[in-house]
Amino acid sequence: MTSAHSGTRGVRGTTTRSEGTTRRVGAIEVDDRDDPDDGRLQRFAAIWSRAIYPATATSLSLHEFERILEPLARRMSEALRSQPFDPRPAHEVGAALVQAHCTEPDALPLILGVVDAYLVLYCPPDRPQGPEESRARCTRLQHALAAGFVRELRDRTRHEQEELARAARTEAEQALHASEAKFQAVFEGAAIGVGIADLDGRVLVVNDAVARMFGGREYFQHSRNVLDWVHPEDAPGVMDLYWELVSGERDHFRIVKPHPHPDGSVIWTNLSVSLLRDSSGKPQYQLAIMEDITEQRLLEQRLHYEATHDALTGLPNRTLFFEHLDRALAADAESERFGVCYLDMDGFKAVNDSLGHAVGDRLLQAVAERLQACVTSPSELIARAGGDEFVALAAGPTAQADAIALARRMLATLAEPFTLDERELLVRASIGVVDGRAGEIGRAEVMRSADITMYRAKAAGGNRFELADPDSNARVIARHSLTNRLPSALENHEFFIEYQPLVRLSDGTVRGAEALVRWLHPVHGVLGPDQFIPLAESTGLIVPLGHWVLEEAARQARAWSDAGCGADGGQLRVNVNLSPCQLRHPTLVADTVAVLEDAGLCPAALCLEVTENDLIGADEDALRPLRELADLGVDIALDDFGTGYSNLSYLRRLPVSTLKLDRSFTRGMQHAPADPVDVKIVEGIVSLAHTLDLAVTVEGVETGVQAEHLRLLGCDTAQGWYYARPGPPERLHTLVLADAS
Ligand code: C2E
Ligand code: CA
Ligand code: CA
Repeated sequence: MTSAHSGTRGVRGTTTRSEGTTRRVGAIEVDDRDDPDDGRLQRFAAIWSRAIYPATATSLSLHEFERILEPLARRMSEALRSQPFDPRPAHEVGAALVQAHCTEPDALPLILGVVDAYLVLYCPPDRPQGPEESRARCTRLQHALAAGFVRELRDRTRHEQEELARAARTEAEQALHASEAKFQAVFEGAAIGVGIADLDGRVLVVNDAVARMFGGREYFQHSRNVLDWVHPEDAPGVMDLYWELVSGERDHFRIVKPHPHPDGSVIWTNLSVSLLRDSSGKPQYQLAIMEDITEQRLLEQRLHYEATHDALTGLPNRTLFFEHLDRALAADAESERFGVCYLDMDGFKAVNDSLGHAVGDRLLQAVAERLQACVTSPSELIARAGGDEFVALAAGPTAQADAIALARRMLATLAEPFTLDERELLVRASIGVVDGRAGEIGRAEVMRSADITMYRAKAAGGNRFELADPDSNARVIARHSLTNRLPSALENHEFFIEYQPLVRLSDGTVRGAEALVRWLHPVHGVLGPDQFIPLAESTGLIVPLGHWVLEEAARQARAWSDAGCGADGGQLRVNVNLSPCQLRHPTLVADTVAVLEDAGLCPAALCLEVTENDLIGADEDALRPLRELADLGVDIALDDFGTGYSNLSYLRRLPVSTLKLDRSFTRGMQHAPADPVDVKIVEGIVSLAHTLDLAVTVEGVETGVQAEHLRLLGCDTAQGWYYARPGPPERLHTLVLADAS
């Protein structure tokens, strides 16, 4: 069947058909032409009608009834396949079923039961919809059908009620006149409950329908008073309406009301009460017309429950959580506060991937159960936000402390291992806690802040909670946006390099320069390496970025050489920083060799700086690339020396030729008199380095006093603001020329 064909079927007002092929069921006009799917549809309609028939008040035979259902079955089938999906036809089907008198109390569950079990089976979608999609559609069709059914039933009942009330009023007004018999017939035969009470509430008479609602006539053998039906769940103001009525101030009211059933359950009714007056207008009786809507209410409650709870864990879902959160945020009392805990399980994906979704689902159920038990007061709520994320809410004046206590309880309860299939599973979680005063912040901001804070807890190692604070949030957001922009920054040529000279202490001549990368960010301006190198390392972008720096620096060194820069006509060296990722990268040696060749630079003109920390614990395999480079003649410097905890004797094993002494050691020498402890240490390191045949470069030289002292201590090279801040490559020409003059 083509969708164009199916689209014209059964649509109201379609005119392209010959006389005699259409008929009407309720509000729906249907088309009876032949169809290849008719066989299956007929079978579905047959099952459907057999199931519902006992619950109808129809005078039709089963076969006739089935003919009524066929077009409705077709509507459902078409709706199931509609593209785009539209469940509304099911609404009309629900109404049509009421019009076809399927109105006994258990009719609706029977109708839905058959749709649920057979619709997808007998009316398979003709497009490649997955089974899950078909099931989801079927569920929505059931909801639409139920909604249409309930609305139609309500409309019909209301209509009946009004008819009855009108009849009763007329009869009462013409009391004792001729047509009492007619009233009696209406009264007794009505499918709807009717009862009359005096103005003191004493029940005088009820019809069979009311008696049935209360489990039989016996209930009314004791004298009953309508005040027996006061119920704790009565809507506020109901008693006011009642007193107004019996005192003659109002003639009518209509409410939805719960009544206690003798068996302890509750009967819900659509109750309409009218005042009957005598012919002089004096209030005399009250007339109640009641329709049992208990089934409908149960269905509505079920639908509401399904819409607000998570199917897997039974916890409230996001929708319900937001309802509660919105209420907490909208509270207007000064003292009202809220606290939100946003929990994300650490490593849940690994459980799902390695043990399968079934185990993952059961773990989530077990986690949900424990988290639910952490809720200790009615002002707290825990919900599943989706996947392995849960959210908890605390509301009230002490919400801040409550939320923190809740976060602690949740972490503690998850610390106990879970046993599934005799397997112990350890669950960890990260929680972001946000709190504040009601009315100060919107829902979206609360959730975003909670999410960011949860990520902070994760980044700090997980299995903990963190409290939101605006500064950390801003940092995380900035970090996030920088990380996102990094990859395109390289393509867009947003990086550039500054060079900081390295000066020989013995004669003050420039020996070379360190290449220091910067990012000219289109929004934030120039960013230093400390702001983006860690991000580039964590995203792996450091490898292409580092390669670019190496290429650029080698090209620059060659340019200096071509320009004849370099003390005594010698070559200027360029120092390039290597990050640990690059160090471990398998093509480091080959790439470096290729870069040197492309630039036409000799290996001795390049110095690679590696930090001490990156080499601590490196075994011979890890050191091999550096050793190969050193063997080729590339200089290797140990950067930030003294900030790690390496055993000094370890230096012997490393393929390094220079120690770059960290700034912290020379800070105490900026001014005379120098810090004696610093002096001792530098002295020791220099002598050790020289014994091992290593040159010493000092970083962070900011004053002349410092430079002179370090020269006396035997340091070989220096770098620092005293000589020059990092700057453009052209600056080096000037410095070198100044040396020469
Ligand atoms: P680093 O290798 O220790 O670089 C020296 C840092 O000290 C530079 O900071 C430099 O501007 C700063 N500095 C130089 N002289 C002085 C001074 O007299 N006083 C003070 N207070 N500071 C001085 P910068 O440029 O911010 O670089 C920071 C770090 O970023 C570098 O530390 C280096 O580890 C890393 N880095 C820079 N460029 C690259 C690169 O291309 N690749 C990699 N992997 N890391 C890089
Ligand atoms: Ca460095
Ligand atoms: Ca350094």
